[in-house]
Amino acid sequence: MIAEIFEQNFQKPAEIFWQAPGRVNLIGEHTDYNQGFVLPMAIEKRTVVAIGRNERSIHRIYSANTEELIEHPAPIGNLEISGWARYPLGVLKLLEISDQGLDIAISSDVPIGGGLSSSAALECSVGAGVNKLLELDNEKLELAKICQRAENEVVGAPTGNMDQIASLFGKADNAVFIDCRSEEIQLVDLGFEKAGLEIVVIDTRTSHKLDDGDYGNRRDECYSAADKLGIHSLRDLNEQHLEGVQSQLTATEFKRARHIVTENQRVLKAVQAVREQEYFTFGKLMTESHSSMRDDFEISTAELDQAVEASLQSGALGARMTGGGFGGSGIALIESQNIPQLTDSVLEAFKQRGFKTPEIFAVKPSCGAREIKGTN
Ligand code: ADP
Ligand code: MG
Repeated sequence: MIAEIFEQNFQKPAEIFWQAPGRVNLIGEHTDYNQGFVLPMAIEKRTVVAIGRNERSIHRIYSANTEELIEHPAPIGNLEISGWARYPLGVLKLLEISDQGLDIAISSDVPIGGGLSSSAALECSVGAGVNKLLELDNEKLELAKICQRAENEVVGAPTGNMDQIASLFGKADNAVFIDCRSEEIQLVDLGFEKAGLEIVVIDTRTSHKLDDGDYGNRRDECYSAADKLGIHSLRDLNEQHLEGVQSQLTATEFKRARHIVTENQRVLKAVQAVREQEYFTFGKLMTESHSSMRDDFEISTAELDQAVEASLQSGALGARMTGGGFGGSGIALIESQNIPQLTDSVLEAFKQRGFKTPEIFAVKPSCGAREIKGTN
């Protein structure tokens, strides 16, 4: 229990408890920083935090996951430390808290580094909890941006703001449809439960690292393609334009651009499909998205490809890798009764290929960050 964890570390009760969920991205990968469209959903796995003020100008942060207590003077100037505490301290820095010291205990059941955004769950639980406790009055979108900046500027992972928006705006049974240019956010009723469908996560337990270069390279390739074409971002390109611009780009840039252009179209079609309860179409778009990430954006792995293939063979309506890529998790849209078959077939395929045993579990579209009682 987070209340006890807090008391054990700080010898007093916490003042406020908050939680923020991880997410799976249903479709729309690497489109966020290209000002395109994404369709994530918050999941029931979440990070919980307990927060209290202390009398000293020092932040003390404990994670039950790493079992480490980190201290840092307040206010935060340059962050000299490395490791996980950069995420919560980055958020505190960007919330511009003066010399008020905070004690924070963290505990999470979001797989860490598994592509389900434990990083945003951490940033948003701390950000939203501190925002409430200190009455900072940041709106949810403002908070999402602060949390994203913590990840970009302090941690050094050049990610977009999809994860933070999903974690803060999620709603039970809904996906969060985001236009990353206008920052318009719409909830989309998924209706999965009524249709007897579920999203199954296959965590390949091959962890990616978003700050080790590959993610940043993709981002740079997209920006350089947009630059050469004289457009603000790849959002401005459509499928008709694409053929005509091939000669202006390197072969790699062209493939990256093609993924972004077609992926944006797929997100729009997927939103329409789910609104019309056309789940087979939705599934097909997920699978097409995976092929595009594998062939054009080149961010998949042998494990993720295998997870997708085995899912489709066991009757999934669609399957794709989710998250930044280079490891992490795949997802499948499947009828509830076919989940045991999917589980067996993925496990068997992984065993045959000599891959690590994956974690396989169903997730439900769940609510976004909110205040909780300490007994959660
Ligand atoms: P993902 O967001 O897909 O889980 P990231 O690489 O973006 O993967 O973020 C994972 C990092 O976030 C971890 O390496 C760790 O530094 C930090 N992190 C997330 N949750 C926690 C937690 N509960 N306790 C400590 N660190 C955490
Ligand atoms: Mg992350």
